[in-house]
Amino acid sequence: MSASSKLPPFDPADPLGIDDLLEPEDLAVRDTVRAWAADRVLPHIAEWYEQGELPGVHELAQELGAIGALGMSLSGYGCAGASAVQYGLACLELEAADSGIRSLVSVQGSLAMYAIHRFGSEEQKQRWLPRMAAGEVIGCFGLTEPDHGSDPAAMRTHAKRDGDDWILNGRKMWITNGSVAGVAVVWAQTEDGIRGFVVPTDSRGFSAPEIKHKWSLRASVTSELVLDDVRLPATAALPGVTGLRGPLSCLSHARYGIVWGAMGAARSSFEAALDYSRTREQFGRPIGGFQLTQAKLADMAVELHKGILLAHHLGRRMDAGRLRPEQVSFGKLNNVREAIEICRTARTILGANGISLEYPVMRHATNLESVLTYEGTVEMHQLVLGKALTGLDAFR
Ligand SMILES: Cc1cc2nc3c(=O)[nH]c(=O)nc-3n(C[C@H](O)[C@H](O)[C@H](O)COP(=O)(O)OP(=O)(O)OC[C@H]3O[C@@H](n4cnc5c(N)ncnc54)[C@H](O)[C@@H]3O)c2cc1C
Repeated sequence: MSASSKLPPFDPADPLGIDDLLEPEDLAVRDTVRAWAADRVLPHIAEWYEQGELPGVHELAQELGAIGALGMSLSGYGCAGASAVQYGLACLELEAADSGIRSLVSVQGSLAMYAIHRFGSEEQKQRWLPRMAAGEVIGCFGLTEPDHGSDPAAMRTHAKRDGDDWILNGRKMWITNGSVAGVAVVWAQTEDGIRGFVVPTDSRGFSAPEIKHKWSLRASVTSELVLDDVRLPATAALPGVTGLRGPLSCLSHARYGIVWGAMGAARSSFEAALDYSRTREQFGRPIGGFQLTQAKLADMAVELHKGILLAHHLGRRMDAGRLRPEQVSFGKLNNVREAIEICRTARTILGANGISLEYPVMRHATNLESVLTYEGTVEMHQLVLGKALTGLDAFR
């Protein structure tokens, strides 16, 4: 018997054998989320995308809560207490369906719930987290403003004291889940620096008009937040943090999910291209038999599985409490950039069909344009790494 016959067979879906790194519980999480997305998202997503809406978002949120996907890696308060690797696997499966669904889950769990879980009072946690984990209340996270995106330290939204109360004024822009949220975590300037506020969205003076005419993340709710003399009790402020460190640590957690999620969009596009290349014939044979197509597929597979391996590595560091924000920037920068390239190359393999919503590749590619920008643009993550490498700050 030759040495190679003792080796496990080559698996085109897992050419590096990365699944060997997973425990049975990890595989169970992955299978659960994959099955949910196959049943509840994939049959409808092209239509939702074309319509530019996410119908039944509250039911979807409750179903995601039922499978433990909301606030998945948080513990207590009805959260699943899953590992970082399991949370990452869930993000990958959700984004393989659509980045909009993964965004719903990321903003809920890693931004809104994470902020309350990490920086909130016991009363805030008890009041909001169990219902958010169950998907009964959707949360949003308001940091970006019309004039302040990459530089949130310069935000204008402010909170002023009036007796014991706080009065919030300002505008937030591009806020995922805004119009469907029951609670908004809003960051605002105060006399003491930037602070977070837990704002019930039925507060007087709060509104969240939806942003329309998007060509990316069309199956995701994106909104403006308008705060016009919103009066909140003293207990609405998050007591656990002052300064930009608060929102930035939430973003680091959410970006970690994107490191995995982007590879889901890439995997879906790769699979579509591989499948197409085997059946589409030109010049009398399948296009997958041409060397140029094989070069594309080989390069796509290399970047896809390198990206998944990188996500695993970061996940294990997070589980060990050793993941630095610069390492998350490394992962987000690489994986989103490579995922877009994979989707664009997949698009070329599908030829004209590549621009059709009958196939997922163009939808994923246009979604990833948002993912490339939100939670820190490519350039911001290059600057984070540039600073870490050189010790020189080039942000301003
Ligand atoms: C679909 C969608 C959903 C979103 N959801 C949310 C959300 O839920 N909550 C939230 O708070 N925000 C959200 N955002 C906002 C997102 O985080 C911001 O768009 C992002 O931070 C970039 O800000 P900006 O769009 O204002 O771009 P800008 O900051 O104006 O940047 C424009 C360009 O200039 C570059 N640039 C800026 N400064 C420098 C510099 N110093 N050096 C080099 N280049 C620089 C940027 O990299 C970018 O290429 C969302 C955005 C989108 C598109």
